Amino acid sequence: MERWQTIIEPFRIHSVEPIRITSRAERLGAIEEAGHNLFNLHADDVLIDLLTDSGTGAMSRDQWAAVQHGDESYAGSPSWYAFLASVQDLFPFRHVIPTHQGRAAEKILFSVIGGPGKTIPNNTHFDTTRANVEFTGAEAVDLVIEEGRHPEGEHPFKGNMDLGRLEALLAERTPATIPAVLVTITNNSGGGQPVSLENLRGVRAICDRFGVPLFLDACRFAENAWFVKTREPGQADRAVRDIVREIASLADGMTMSAKKDGLANIGGWLAVNDDRLAEQCRNLLILTEGFPTYGGLAGRDLEAIAQGLREVVDEDYLRYRIRSTAYLGDALAEAGVPTVRPIGGHAVYLDARALLPHVPPLRYPGQALAVALYVEGGIRGCEIGTVMFGRHPDGSETPAAMDLVRLAIPRRTYTQSHVDYVVEVVRWVAERARDLRGYRIVDEPPALRHFTARFEPLV
Ligand SMILES: *Cc1c(COP(=O)(O)O)cnc(C)c1O
Repeated sequence: MERWQTIIEPFRIHSVEPIRITSRAERLGAIEEAGHNLFNLHADDVLIDLLTDSGTGAMSRDQWAAVQHGDESYAGSPSWYAFLASVQDLFPFRHVIPTHQGRAAEKILFSVIGGPGKTIPNNTHFDTTRANVEFTGAEAVDLVIEEGRHPEGEHPFKGNMDLGRLEALLAERTPATIPAVLVTITNNSGGGQPVSLENLRGVRAICDRFGVPLFLDACRFAENAWFVKTREPGQADRAVRDIVREIASLADGMTMSAKKDGLANIGGWLAVNDDRLAEQCRNLLILTEGFPTYGGLAGRDLEAIAQGLREVVDEDYLRYRIRSTAYLGDALAEAGVPTVRPIGGHAVYLDARALLPHVPPLRYPGQALAVALYVEGGIRGCEIGTVMFGRHPDGSETPAAMDLVRLAIPRRTYTQSHVDYVVEVVRWVAERARDLRGYRIVDEPPALRHFTARFEPLV
């Protein structure tokens, strides 16, 4: 295969899901009814749905077959043992605790180790992680490297932890107030940017020096391992599976959303080595998720995840996955559309503030761009900017650090011609960006306003 340049989808289509083609007039009606909020749309009014890569991927033939093997015994189901074996094959932690999705694992872990006066450092906390840390009264601190804070700069491992700042933080606070260090792979909030093995080893060494455990937020572990294989000196000849196991060996536990690199539509887990911590977590699990051999999941879900974990470390899949995201990003960059660089694993981020300089941040350029992509082409992205982050608990409003529109790529779901269509629509909208107007919010809830706020276009 080496002589051919085109990296093809390493699958063919076995079961077809129609998508509904709508007219521009229909989409205008739908978005008005939705209060110009893309979260309020009926999904069948969307043509290409790039809202999120979470739980939106296509399962394989073998996963659907595994679903039929689902055993729904309340305790000790064979599906649980299949799940456990598959998780421990990649992540040989002593205790694996299934949950219905990633945030449930976070909620349980931080309920046990968090609390007032505690600090949890991370490269960048994902929003549910930060919310679960802060809900316990603990402080969530982001310590990504300086390069990770600048959207335009190229760096192969922009998700890396700033080791100097981590060491300073651990030296400043007593280890007793830092119950764990987290590393998020890949760094979702930072644009799906990977963390190098060398950096993880560095974090491990610092944790050892201060006697603090290290946890992975490992939702996109396979994508991260692929970046290690292809970008990190000395890693090119290793199997991805091997890299994943080394990453696991550096940590004391993990939280996971199987809706990402589990290639499943639901599920997650918490894994730890510490026996006492595992017991405390299982006690909470029984309160909120269920018995420890199913944790809020049906047996069939456990089977789908067990099979998904075998498929996600397939290197033909990962080559295609990472290339197809970069294909979209590179085509847009070539067309002069400003994007966050380099292109991460699961999404392309359009820089709406740069594209719409005539729309001030408090008039929501990201919202204007996201709505235009929907109206013109039926594409649903996600505003990540002032709508999402601009309102503060004290009621004040300030511009977010950036105004982006995220185009997240569901796994194994869209073909190259779908992506070519997205490129065409984004280019068309970008060429007419100066005609786009901002928005004002006419109705918003007290928190997490981006999900339900209603907007009005400015004239
Ligand atoms: C999605 C995600 C979570 C939360 O997982 P859910 O399954 O959505 O609850 C946590 N951390 C990261 C980095 C994520 O991407």
